[in-house]
Order: sequence, then structure tokens, then C-alpha cells
Amino acid sequence: PDTDAWRAVVGMMLLSTMAVNAIFAASVPRMFWAFQVPVTAIGAVTLFQQGGSVSRAIGFVVLSALPFSAILAWINRGANERAAYYAEANRKTNEQLHQLNARLRHEASHDPLTGIPNRQEFTRRLDTAVAEHSPNVAVLFMDLDRFKSINDQFGHATGDAVIAMAARRILQRLRPQDVLARLGGDEFTAVLPGVTSSEDVERIAARILAGFDAPFEFAGREHDLAISIGIAAPGARSGPADLLHMADAALYEAKRSGRGRFETYRSGTAAGARPFD
Ligand code: GH3
Ligand code: MG
Repeated sequence: PDTDAWRAVVGMMLLSTMAVNAIFAASVPRMFWAFQVPVTAIGAVTLFQQGGSVSRAIGFVVLSALPFSAILAWINRGANERAAYYAEANRKTNEQLHQLNARLRHEASHDPLTGIPNRQEFTRRLDTAVAEHSPNVAVLFMDLDRFKSINDQFGHATGDAVIAMAARRILQRLRPQDVLARLGGDEFTAVLPGVTSSEDVERIAARILAGFDAPFEFAGREHDLAISIGIAAPGARSGPADLLHMADAALYEAKRSGRGRFETYRSGTAAGARPFD
């Protein structure tokens, strides 16, 4: 029956088919506008102008809409697969860049021989520690005793290995929150956050010295090695540069007064009095 009601039904089917296609073709809009819309529109106009039969109308809707839906869905699937492929490739590249970035940052801030922070990184860590913990921050300045003779006797490569062994021993005696750095040569510094008295720091320094009691094994036998430590004690609201300077002065004093020991620089001593008593 070729009634207005049937025409309305067919018209609604056309519209809903186009709506479905629009959803399918959302990611390939050019295909939708180039094929689906014109073909369906021509079909609809023809249908209503000629007052065609319902079966012809339904057939037309199916013939025009479904194959294009299928093609669009297929193209879409391919596009989705490609999108997923590129998203995965993108993710991998990002991950590699992220790892490379992390490695470069680590290499720029760490000493390659010992793997601990270098001078630049130490400066940053010291700044942070002072900002967060002052005045409860101490600095250690350490230097291996008579290290030059190891280089002279056994060569630079053995000297390097000894520096790395010494770094490990110091690190083992520090607390997890302490930062040990190699400033260069046989010099190490450490920043100790959260210490409140010089006794706190001296206990840690004594532990480091005790770590050098056992001999070092290199060049086929055991050798004694000692270290001297200068301490900048917590207490005064000293800036990073002052702490480092005090620890350096204390190290000089420890070397001068016999080596293999620690010396503490107490700030706030009376004018003219020695800070090492
Ligand atoms: P002191 O007890 O006064 O500290 O005597 P020292 O012989 O240890 O002398 P000092 O600390 O002044 O010199 C350290 C030496 O370390 C000087 C240099 O030949 C050597 N050195 C510096 N950098 C390196 C390095 O990267 N590797 C090695 N193997 N040796 C280094
Ligand atoms: Mg030395």
C-alpha cells in the first residue's frame, strides 16, 4: 500500500540509516559526505517524487545504505587499527625518550667512576638540604690520606679502583637520607640533613673512620688506607657555601693534626678563639 503512513515509515528508515552511517563514518567524514549522503538523498527524492512502492523504497534504502555502511565500517576498522598501531609506536618512542632523558640527566649529575653525585649535583642537594633543614644540617668534607702514593706505586687505574672502593665504604656508613658526592680526585663531601648536634655528626664520622680499619685489597694484596674528615657541625644558620667552607677548614685541620681522624668546626665560637676545640 502506497500510503502517507508508509512513506513516513520509509522516510524515517532513511533518516535513521543515515544517522547510523554518520556514527560509523564519524572518523572518515569525507567518505560519508562524498558517498552516503548524496546516494541516500537521491534515493529519497526519487522515492517521493515517483510515489514508488514500499518494497522498492525499502530495497533502495537497504541497497544504498548497507553496503556503504559496511565499507565505511571496514575503512573505519582499518583506520582504528592504524591509529592503535601509531599510538603504540608513539608510546614506545615516548618511553624511550623518557629513559634516554633520565639517563642523560643521571650522567650529567653523577660521577662515572663511583656512581655517586658529582660536584654540581652536590651543590643542588646541599642547597635543598639547607633550605629544608637549616639549622639542622651538617656537612662532611673527606679526603683520602696519602692517596698519591697509591697512584705512584700501582698506577692510575688501580688508583681509580681504590677511589671507587673507598666511596662504597663511606656510603655504607652513612644514613639513607645522607647524600655523598665525589668532588673530584680523592675528595668526597656529604650533606647530612636532620642532625641536631655535633655529637650526632661525630658519631657518623667515627663510623666512617672505622670503615677504613679493615685493609683494602688491590694489586694482589691488602693495603691500609685511611681518610681524614672535616665536619661543619649543625647549629648556626649557615648557608651552603659557609657549611662547605667550614668543613673544608676542619678537614685541613684534621690533615694538619695527624690524618686518619675527624675534626669539627664549631661555628659561634668566641671571636679570636679556635673553632676546633
Ligand atoms: P693527603 O693525605 O694530603 O690528602 O695526601 P694525598 O696524597 O692524598 O694528596 P691529595 O689529596 O692532595 O691528592 C690526591 C691525588 O689524587 C692527586 C692526584 O694525583 C690524584 N687524583 C686526582 N684525581 C684522580 C682520579 O680521577 N683518579 C686517580 N687514580 N687519581 C686521581
Ligand atoms: Mg688525599
